Amino acid sequence: MPTPNKNKVSFAQLGLSSQLLDAVSEQGYEPPTPIQADAIPEVIRGRDLLAGAQTGTGKTAGFVLPILQRLQDNPTEGRRRVIRTLILVPTRELAAQVNDSVKIYGRFLKLHSMVIFGGVNINPQTTRLRSGVDIVVATPGRLLDHIYQKNIRLDQVDTLVLDEADRMLDMGFIRDIRKILQALPTARQNLLFSATFSKEIRRLAGEFLDDPVEVQVAKRNATAAKVSQLVHPIDKKKKRALLSHLIREGDWRQVLVFTRTKHGANRLAKQLDQDGITATAIHGNKSQAARMRALAEFKQNRVRVLVATDIAARGLDIEQLPHVVNYELPQVPEDYVHRIGRTGRAGKTGHAVSLVCIDEIKLLRDIEKMLKRKVEQKVIAGFEVDPNVKPEPIQKRVANRRPRRR
Ligand code: AMP
Repeated sequence: MPTPNKNKVSFAQLGLSSQLLDAVSEQGYEPPTPIQADAIPEVIRGRDLLAGAQTGTGKTAGFVLPILQRLQDNPTEGRRRVIRTLILVPTRELAAQVNDSVKIYGRFLKLHSMVIFGGVNINPQTTRLRSGVDIVVATPGRLLDHIYQKNIRLDQVDTLVLDEADRMLDMGFIRDIRKILQALPTARQNLLFSATFSKEIRRLAGEFLDDPVEVQVAKRNATAAKVSQLVHPIDKKKKRALLSHLIREGDWRQVLVFTRTKHGANRLAKQLDQDGITATAIHGNKSQAARMRALAEFKQNRVRVLVATDIAARGLDIEQLPHVVNYELPQVPEDYVHRIGRTGRAGKTGHAVSLVCIDEIKLLRDIEKMLKRKVEQKVIAGFEVDPNVKPEPIQKRVANRRPRRR
């Protein structure tokens, strides 16, 4: 559960209608989280927003609630529904989740929302668009397809949200976003959410936000206080055996394992299954239905291990996991923080372990530099590192590396 705000402001004090307050109280959300307390009144006022907030802070309600309030305040009575809010997100899963939130918080209002993402047939989306919607939650690629096919009109959009903007840039969506912006009116409210603030994000914010209110909730690159972190040094070839050993010996029940590549995720899930540990993989090559199914099975404890790539796990509402394993360290140190942020929520202590082979020492150093501390190392008996194993030559490692999109 996200951290409650310190000043104990209540939702009723934030300027929300009785319908929205009812929906919120049905969810048992009281008090508002810090991002909600800070952002909701400003967004209702019509201000642009630059928010530093990760998944788990309650950021979705932080923008969805005031947007619904504004739409409720300006009804399109009698007129045909037109798209007035566009929410851009990096992944299909996040799109589905944000749209679910819109439906939950807006359940006592007469507003229509829909989700647009790729990997599924475009025609039902086109039909739905024709029937008229107020709010669209979309990933950039498929939205552009609709724009090019003239299925969608965005010239009445008065609020635009870029959610997880840093992820969208990482995933190479910047050009698509710029093209989408051309289809929108220039006078509009803009809300930008990002977990980190790189130069690129600052530049993007400078370009398209107008005198934004800035809200920062999660300290940049701060790891959750209640996550115990451990590194197990191990030879690359023995990683899988060690993982099976840790899961069995520790009787770990719900384990999220990160690999660097889709291929690696598939292979590991298969091998764990062969070891008698139920596992499934989730990554960008799987169909939307398959990803949702894998996630549901994991959440319902029908599989013990979910093997994921960073991109597939991004934005997923998988929280309060007891165990997160870095089967391979991420190339980007910030991804380490995102990964282990999946554990240790709601006051519980989480356990994040990294299986680190000799080729990954540099990645570990970069992570420790970012964390500004060393992560404790522990050799597991029976899995000692063979001193004769030499690092793989860099050339070979580069040749083995998979294409960039994970
Ligand atoms: P988000 O950061 O938007 O992904 O939200 C993280 C989780 O917090 C979601 O499961 C929400 O249902 C939940 N949540 C959002 N706002 C509150 C609140 N004020 N109190 C308790 N839980 C909340």
